Amino acid sequence: MTQLQRAREGTVTDSMERVAEREQVSAEFVREQVADGQAVIPANVEHDRLDPMIIGREFATKVNANIGNSETESGVEEELEKLHTAVHYGADTVMDLSTGGDLDRIREANVDHSPVPLGTVPIYEAVKQVESVEEFTHELLLDVIEKQAAQGVDYQTIHAGVLMEHLPLTDGRKTGIVSRGGSILAQWMEENGMQNPLYAKFEEICEIFAEYDVTFSLGDGLRPGCLADAGDDAQFAELDTLGELTRIAWDHGVQVMVEGPGHVPMDRIAGQVERQQEVCDGAPFYVLGPLVTDVAPGYDHITSAIGATEAARAGAAMLCYVTPKEHLGLPDAEDVREGLAAYRIAAHAADVANDREGARDWDDALSEARYDFDWTRQFDLALDPERARSYHDQTLPGDNYKEARFCSMCGVEFCSMRIDQDAREADGEMTEIEEETDVEVSAAAEVNRPPVGTHEVEGEPSLADVDLERDYPSADD
Ligand code: SF4
Repeated sequence: MTQLQRAREGTVTDSMERVAEREQVSAEFVREQVADGQAVIPANVEHDRLDPMIIGREFATKVNANIGNSETESGVEEELEKLHTAVHYGADTVMDLSTGGDLDRIREANVDHSPVPLGTVPIYEAVKQVESVEEFTHELLLDVIEKQAAQGVDYQTIHAGVLMEHLPLTDGRKTGIVSRGGSILAQWMEENGMQNPLYAKFEEICEIFAEYDVTFSLGDGLRPGCLADAGDDAQFAELDTLGELTRIAWDHGVQVMVEGPGHVPMDRIAGQVERQQEVCDGAPFYVLGPLVTDVAPGYDHITSAIGATEAARAGAAMLCYVTPKEHLGLPDAEDVREGLAAYRIAAHAADVANDREGARDWDDALSEARYDFDWTRQFDLALDPERARSYHDQTLPGDNYKEARFCSMCGVEFCSMRIDQDAREADGEMTEIEEETDVEVSAAAEVNRPPVGTHEVEGEPSLADVDLERDYPSADD
């Protein structure tokens, strides 16, 4: 049975208990949220190493990192390194978007070693198995989806909402169809003159997902690829279909989240989130960015993190990170770090703005360490401790500077916090402000604590633990 089915019958599962512990809420509240479809616990019954987590607007905002190779070769070792990097820098879930190399081996290795839910886009593999896009069949798609479910993938992006009748609505767009899955399906439908096979076979996919408890991530194949296309008829026609599919999946006892845009002007993001929540009956919204301007290639982790903050503030439950390489190339480890830092900032900023219980404690604790000139504690509490320490130590590396009442930014003489403290000391005010925020016991500390997001350090997949010589089974074996 799926988490949704068990929640509906009133059972609190071990996964719900674990999620409640991590989020500092009651297990009954978790059960209710899952039972009502307002939150999902992506947890394939075959994913043994998973540390369960939850995605829903009533819980801490989560961040997904995409990893995977492209057409150029990349092996298991490289992909596991990317998995490690993503989890280390705080990814709550990871999507393997590999399109080259030994896809089965890479996927099996990722499932085997990932403590976080793993997502995939099965249509990528289906396309790799045929000569040209129009050749894949309904049966091939179902086979790939079932194989990936059996391998332990926790959630799959299924672009079932792109329909034949939606395609003419994209004709006037500035950037057409920018989703890989959406463009593949559009080409298939046009070449074959048939409806989207993922839509046609949706109930059969539901049956596969129910067997393994795979969560739907209903793909937004017609998401806008630029500000000019945001909120057009094509995007909202697909959203209406995603609402219909959400209810069908729920009827089958399958968990659902819904993917969203893309590129959206800042002032229209909240309205888009509210519309998704209404059309999809509150199913968790999983957004890519959105980018709030199109003019900054090379900095799209920033343009999109601005939009992601606004989306999360308005109710989006999970943010799919964007790296500085977006639109330009395949990200490397440093890009993954930059992207995750930007998105963890976005998620936390939204949690603070939404007054998520305890979220501000982390900020308050770091601010106190800063005002105390407790540099070591400030580094330890930083979202990226390694970055904070290294920037400080570039100019003041010695241990004697770890209690110094200044840094190199303003220097000894002009350190405003030191000047302010001296003045308060002289006025006898310092004793009144010494009560510390106890970040150790706050909900935010458990949910967002640095340096590894919602995950404990020992949960990170380490290459030292990985038997790279191991023969990972293929589902075809
Ligand atoms: S020198 Fe300036 S930046 Fe550095 S601790 Fe003092 S006030 Fe802050």
